[in-house]
Amino acid sequence: MLYFDHAATTPPYEEVTQTVAEVMGRHYGNPSSLHQLGETSGKLLSKAREVCAAALQVKPREIIFTAGATESNNTAIKGAAVQYISRGKHLITTQTEHPSVFESCKQLEELGWEVTYLPVDEDGKVSAQQVLAAVRQETVLVSIMHVNNETGTIQPVSEIGQALKEQAPRVLFHVDGVQGFGKVPLSIKESGIDLYSLSAHKIRGPKGVGLLFVREGLKLAPLLAGGGQEGGLRSGTENVPYIVAFAKALRMAREGLDARRTKFSGLRERLIRGIIAIPELSINSPVDGAPHIVQFSYPGMKAEAFLHILEEKGFFVSTRSACSSKRSEPSRVLLAMGKSRDEASSGIRISLGEEHTDKDIDALLNALDDAVRRLQRLR
Ligand code: PMP
Repeated sequence: MLYFDHAATTPPYEEVTQTVAEVMGRHYGNPSSLHQLGETSGKLLSKAREVCAAALQVKPREIIFTAGATESNNTAIKGAAVQYISRGKHLITTQTEHPSVFESCKQLEELGWEVTYLPVDEDGKVSAQQVLAAVRQETVLVSIMHVNNETGTIQPVSEIGQALKEQAPRVLFHVDGVQGFGKVPLSIKESGIDLYSLSAHKIRGPKGVGLLFVREGLKLAPLLAGGGQEGGLRSGTENVPYIVAFAKALRMAREGLDARRTKFSGLRERLIRGIIAIPELSINSPVDGAPHIVQFSYPGMKAEAFLHILEEKGFFVSTRSACSSKRSEPSRVLLAMGKSRDEASSGIRISLGEEHTDKDIDALLNALDDAVRRLQRLR
């Protein structure tokens, strides 16, 4: 079996599973408890926060642990919208965000906020000028993802953040960094980012844990009311085993960035060259996309049928993204990039992992070619 669905989730590092088992089994104290067991858990939690902060080059007190990026994105957007309601009720995002951002904005629209969904170009990008032109007196927040989960498009978030800081410093800037971290370099501090979301399971950590960077001095209305953990922003007993394991994965993701980027870029180029040689397939990912994602369409063919033929041959891929693969409508992301409904309904996403080799890519390309021939015969 060859797993090519790393953008959906990644196999955890062995160190991660061992850490979860060890901390869960031995250090089960509540980090808020005052006795020794609690104190040990509290120390583990503080240490994990320091490790994450160092990997992101921010301060430990700027890290809030959550149950994943869906929660981080909801907290950033709704928390800012509610906290800064006196500034206005306008938000800016793009037409191609992850559902956890897109649907949060839709919910706020129903409650009376106005949202500008910026259109993207044929590569799926927005520009800093577009963002600035959409800013109004009453704009509270701009939310733009770093790397698109379906196509691998890299948004110019650094330019956007810097432009906002210079020309609209009152407007908060949130970045969903889930698909970019560990694959595409980005400096939170130098990019004028106020809020930044990450998820552990996309970087070989456990599922169900993530973080939100909240720039010092910024207040957010909490989604959850309760015991006031995580600086009052995220009530609920912290998941210490997962957080400690997440910190390890985050450090490894940061440290291995350059090597991973070089390796993935070579594999991606080989993959793209091979896909271009199959005339029935058309590539949707931009040339300058993230090094671990390639998306293509087979117009007129059902993506699921393609996926299952590949699965029979031992290759696991994805139809666009795991979060939307159970929906039958065409991809909102591809439609926004100007693709036809046919193209937008037949997307297949390949996402690379650290274990892959040139040989694996060649095997996948053979399987793609075979699958296309088989689908043609079925037509
Ligand atoms: N944002 C992006 C870009 C993602 O790819 C994902 C995961 N599909 C999420 C947010 C949500 O992350 P989680 O699974 O941790 O809730």
